[in-house]
Amino acid sequence: MPKYKLEYIWLDGYSPLANLRSKTQIKEFASFPKLEELPQWNFDGSSTRQAEGKSADCLLRPVAVYPDSTRRNGVLVMCEVLLPDGSPHPSNTRATIPDDEGTWFGFEQEFFFYKDGAPLGFPPGGYPAPQGLYYTGVGYQSIGALARELVEQHMDICLDAGLNYEGTNAEVAKGQWEFQIFGKGSKKAADEIWVARYLLSRLTERYGIDIAWECKPIRGPFNEPLDWNGSGMHANFSTAYMREVGGKAYFEQLMGAFSKYMDEHIAVYGPDNHMRLTGLHETQSIDKFTYGVADRGSSIRIPHAFVNNGYRGYLEDRRPNSAADPYLVAGRILKTVQSVPTP
Ligand code: ADP
Ligand code: MN
Ligand code: MN
Ligand code: MN
Repeated sequence: MPKYKLEYIWLDGYSPLANLRSKTQIKEFASFPKLEELPQWNFDGSSTRQAEGKSADCLLRPVAVYPDSTRRNGVLVMCEVLLPDGSPHPSNTRATIPDDEGTWFGFEQEFFFYKDGAPLGFPPGGYPAPQGLYYTGVGYQSIGALARELVEQHMDICLDAGLNYEGTNAEVAKGQWEFQIFGKGSKKAADEIWVARYLLSRLTERYGIDIAWECKPIRGPFNEPLDWNGSGMHANFSTAYMREVGGKAYFEQLMGAFSKYMDEHIAVYGPDNHMRLTGLHETQSIDKFTYGVADRGSSIRIPHAFVNNGYRGYLEDRRPNSAADPYLVAGRILKTVQSVPTP
C-alpha cells in the first residue's frame, strides 16, 4: 500500500490574528484517503497559545481533505482544534458557523508579496511610481519579474487541490494581488481560503518572500505618491432564500439587521480595519453602515443584477479585511441573515 504524506493544517490560538500551523504524518492507504479514513491527531497546545504546559495536548479533527500536487502522495488535511474531551477549543472559530448547505460565499482575498521588509518591487528604502498602472497591469514596469510567476504557480496548486479558485488579478498597489474563492455550503469557501493562504505562504518560502495579510501594510502620509491602498477580503454572500425568493421588503429588513449588528460585524472583520475603512480608496468609513447599487464606496454593494432580478441574488460586504478570519466573517454574516424572519 502506498504511503501518503498527510499534512494536518490548523489555526493556532494567537490573538487578534490566528496563524496557520501544520505538521506531517505518514500513513498507508490503499488509495487517496477519504475524510472518514483520516484519524484524529494531536499537538502541543502549549506552543501555540492553546493550552497550559501541564496538560498540553489538543486534538486535531480533520474536516476537509485535498490532494497536494507539490508532494508525491501528498495530502492536505484541514482540521478543527478540539479540547481533550472532544468539544471545540475556544480558538475553533469554524465551529461557530451555523451549518447551512444553501448558503454560498465568495471571498476576494487581497494581499501583498513582501520581500526584505517592503512590498515586492518597491526600490530599497523608497517608493515606486504612484498607483495607477498596477491594477490589472501588464509589463515589467508594473508587475515586476516574479509576482505573476508566483501567482500562476499558486493558482495551479489550488486547482490541483480541487479548491474552487475562481480567478485572480493584480491589484491597485505594486506587489498587491487578489484571488477569489467561491463555495456552496456555509463553511466551504472559508475552509478553502485558509488552505489557499497556507499554500501561498508555503510556496513563497523558497523565494525569500512572505505574504503580508495585514490590511494596511504601507502607512504613508495620505498624499501622493505615498498613499497606498489597503487590502480587503470582500465577502459575497447569498442564502437560498435570497436567491430564490428575496424581494425589496426582505432586502430592506436584511439591511436593517446589518445596520443593527454593525459593531458585531466590525469586531470580526479583521484588526486595524480603521486604517483601511477610511471612506477613501473605495471604502466606507468604519463607523458608518451604508448600502448602494454598484456603489464601491458603501459598506454593502448591491450588484445591478440583484435589483434587475427583483432583489434576488447575492450581496457584497466590502468591509472584511485581508487578515480577517473567513470562519468568523461567514459565521457573523449568516447569523445576521438568520436573525431576519422569513415567511
Ligand atoms: P469585484 O472585484 O467586482 O467585486 P469579483 O469577480 O472579484 O468581483 O468577485 C465576485 C465574487 O462573487 C466571486 O468570488 C464570486 O464567486 C462571488 N459570487 C458570485 N455569485 C455568488 C452568489 N450567488 N453567492 C455568493 N457569492 C457569489
Ligand atoms: Mn475582485
Ligand atoms: Mn480587489
Ligand atoms: Mn469586490
